[in-house]
Amino acid sequence: MDIYSNITEIKGIGEKTASLFAKASVFCVKDLILYYPRNYINYPEITCISGITRGRINCIKARITGTPSLYSSRGKTILSFDVADETGSAKIYYFNMPYLKNQFRHGMEVCLYGTVPYESKGIMFSNPKVTTEDEYNDLRKSLRPVYPLVKGLTEKKISDAVMKIFKAGFNFRDFVPEDILKKYGLCDINTALKLIHFPADEKDIVKARKRLAFNEFFVFLYNMKILKGDKEKKKSTSIIKADERTEKLKNSLEFKLTNGQEHALKEIMSDMESGYLMNRLLQGDVGCGKTIVAFLACYNAFLSGYQSAVMAPTVVLATQHYNDFCSLNEKYGLGLSIVLLTGSMKAGERRRALALIEEGGADIVIGTHALITDKVNYKNLAFAVVDEQHRFGVKQRYALIEKGKDLHLLVMSATPIPRTLGLILYGDMDISVIKEKPANRLPLKNAVVNGDFRPKNYKFMQEQIDKGHQIYIICPMVLEGEQENLKNVETYADEIKPYFKENVRILSLHGKMKDDEKEKIMESFKNHEADILISTTVIEVGVNVPNATVIMIENADRFGLSSLHQLRGRVGRGDAQSYAIFVSENDSKKNMERLGVLAKSNDGFYIAEEDLKQRGPGDFFGYRQSGDPSFKMADIYTDADMLSLAKDLVDRDIIKIQDKLNDTMKCSFEDYLDFGILCL
Ligand code: ADP
Ligand code: MG
Repeated sequence: MDIYSNITEIKGIGEKTASLFAKASVFCVKDLILYYPRNYINYPEITCISGITRGRINCIKARITGTPSLYSSRGKTILSFDVADETGSAKIYYFNMPYLKNQFRHGMEVCLYGTVPYESKGIMFSNPKVTTEDEYNDLRKSLRPVYPLVKGLTEKKISDAVMKIFKAGFNFRDFVPEDILKKYGLCDINTALKLIHFPADEKDIVKARKRLAFNEFFVFLYNMKILKGDKEKKKSTSIIKADERTEKLKNSLEFKLTNGQEHALKEIMSDMESGYLMNRLLQGDVGCGKTIVAFLACYNAFLSGYQSAVMAPTVVLATQHYNDFCSLNEKYGLGLSIVLLTGSMKAGERRRALALIEEGGADIVIGTHALITDKVNYKNLAFAVVDEQHRFGVKQRYALIEKGKDLHLLVMSATPIPRTLGLILYGDMDISVIKEKPANRLPLKNAVVNGDFRPKNYKFMQEQIDKGHQIYIICPMVLEGEQENLKNVETYADEIKPYFKENVRILSLHGKMKDDEKEKIMESFKNHEADILISTTVIEVGVNVPNATVIMIENADRFGLSSLHQLRGRVGRGDAQSYAIFVSENDSKKNMERLGVLAKSNDGFYIAEEDLKQRGPGDFFGYRQSGDPSFKMADIYTDADMLSLAKDLVDRDIIKIQDKLNDTMKCSFEDYLDFGILCL
């Protein structure tokens, strides 16, 4: 068995289990080892009822005080009974498990554990697990990993399979020389991988993730170093002169560009006519207007006879850009041929698009990752824009560069990365920053509230709807098997209907929907065919509906501050006063303080800095927010120290590492890096 062996070679995994794993993209041993838990459960001591802490697991020993009753409500069968100890009582519910009825009798002592929701009036457990005191105390001896689940695959199955790999004596060779490990206090790769799956305590997790985060950063920085080649500016034969028609178009727009936009555009245009390749990051807070800058640059490239490409991370966003570009094109009679290319297009449509791109019948190509697949051949691509670039890996960025001859690259990002980290992550690029927002914007008004405020919030939303505005409500993505007290997109619409007038139109959007379905919903929301959009964070990226004035974020405590900032950036994009409401049932002091930062400032950079300050390496049990697909484990905020360490190593000790690898490895260092994790 080696790391590429099919998982069916692991004892106990047959074709059937393997097909379940396949749904989670786990095919070989390596995939399984890299299938990290997304969280861990720490079982607390058995408690009395008055000692229960809401919002997490509790285990109680209590007596059933009445006869369990079985009834139906809203299509569910419910088994319910009360339990009590000397300190209080609690309600127990089992949904759709009528067969449990005979297991419980009046007067019986039971030991139960489960999550107690924040919201219930009294203490309640829904679907708690039944256990014994001994069994429960066994559970408490370690942390239980929680894996991202797919239907049919249990945590135990995953855990057992991973355990078997280690038991089979699987040993990865470490690429980092021992003295370096020692110097930086890192553990070896085998320890790290074992501990990430089977930690005894929180310290183990911190130790493991430190090492794994380091690996990911190292691979990232190393890739960047090789892909980029030497530091010197590369000469370019694509010379794109600043055309006066671009200037004219700019001056006839509905709005005047802000100073930041003007300045960025000037830098971009002068890069492109310089005779050297452009490699520039355009950074600007959400809503500062990066798209129009990109559009003007594309138009300018067109005037010099070149093709441009705009790559966005989601179909929704690519379609939005496509529509915006098309309407500018029509409105100002620019004579551009603009083509959309996404993975979800029909075969015929796609073929036509590809032909246009190849023959040069497309001047601006807008799309998703589809833009960099093998099938796409550009006639004379010389300028490319990557929007929301943190959603793409370094490799994708460079794949796009490969598609053109002497291609000028502009990547855009609203992720406010503290300057020190930015210099490391984007060390290979020149940076333009747009600091100000368009002048017509009023600063957002923010509120951090607990669930009791919901009715008030809904009333406020109705008032905004009466004024003709639109509303976003964001719920976290709910994964199968997750706590039931999270607000769920799929049921939320029904829950809130009673609070709104009959004629209020509500749409829901979530990640599991097909691309074209998502697009349709976004399109109708944009066209004001709905008043409220309930969505998971799929709308986090880039979506622009200026008429929306309120965003309410449920379970805000589940998100990182910077993600929350991106989310609230969906409103405040027009000239009306806009509002962001953060709802959190967790009103602990620490959490309220953390969310309070959002109420204090609307400045994304300030928020990123505060976020960095407030988080330590122990903040593992929370949120991951960089969203950069280069990183599975690492978070540029939480693991900032590992990022600088990896940077040091790539800059200084790379030769030493390469030597060690060449000694021990069969394959080249570059192949090795492709594993994503440096071990073999
Ligand atoms: P982001 O930088 O977050 O990508 P967008 O480019 O989507 O922001 O711009 C947000 C909105 O602001 C769009 O509706 C756009 O038309 C508008 N906009 C851009 N620049 C200006 C400006 N200088 N004045 C007024 N509105 C602007
Ligand atoms: Mg944008």
